[in-house]
Amino acid sequence: MTQRPLIAGNWKMNTSSREEAVALAGAIAAVDFDGVDVVVCPPFPWLLAVRDAIAESQVALGAQNCWYMPNGAVTGEVSTKMLSGLCEYVILGHSERRRLFEESDAIVREKIGAVLRAAMTPILCVGETLEIRERGDAVEHVTSQLVAALGGRPPTEVEACVVAYEPVWAIGTGIAASASDAESMAVSIRESIVEISAGVPHNVRVLYGGSVTPTNSAEILSQPHVGGALVGGASLDLDAFVTIARSVRI
Ligand code: PEP
Repeated sequence: MTQRPLIAGNWKMNTSSREEAVALAGAIAAVDFDGVDVVVCPPFPWLLAVRDAIAESQVALGAQNCWYMPNGAVTGEVSTKMLSGLCEYVILGHSERRRLFEESDAIVREKIGAVLRAAMTPILCVGETLEIRERGDAVEHVTSQLVAALGGRPPTEVEACVVAYEPVWAIGTGIAASASDAESMAVSIRESIVEISAGVPHNVRVLYGGSVTPTNSAEILSQPHVGGALVGGASLDLDAFVTIARSVRI
């Protein structure tokens, strides 16, 4: 792994007040993460306040979603034009959005393009359901999501993305993938990326996400091809999030 590890906190629709979000962000910003890149992704209404709370720190700001058009008649959405200059990262294709909002691979692809054009870093989430895993099609499914989102893009664009392997059955369930399953899917994702865009060096960051906790993070993050974690529930707990970030072996 040639890049610094990345630990991203996906706060989802949590932190119910601006004060709560600012307090959590400020506490994270005060920590020395020593060689680890850390990103927090609060809900849209708290982005500006959290940006200010982390301004003097190394912690970066991410959004949890965006729409791909610069403006227009898209009620309830936020464009990359509105986020650029504010956020460095945008989570895209999260399984909750694919499931609850029926976000298709085609829409995720459009969003990847828009985020890259806005000079932000997409965190592209891919992952299989339990049903798909049990029938032995996990790698094929994840590969198809990668091809849909990244196929045909120039190597520089592919390399500018972060990929998060998030098995759907592990998200919010307390049942994380085993370290060896996370590692083997990370290897497969890296191989797919090289195939998708011949010539891309092997330094696209591949994160693992799904019930990462202080108890399992050290083993998962010590896998050679796992470049960090996308953390949901545990990112809302300062001590847990800091312990996870510090458990990365650099
Ligand atoms: C997520 O939603 O991206 C996630 C990884 O959630 P959790 O850590 O709570 O499983």
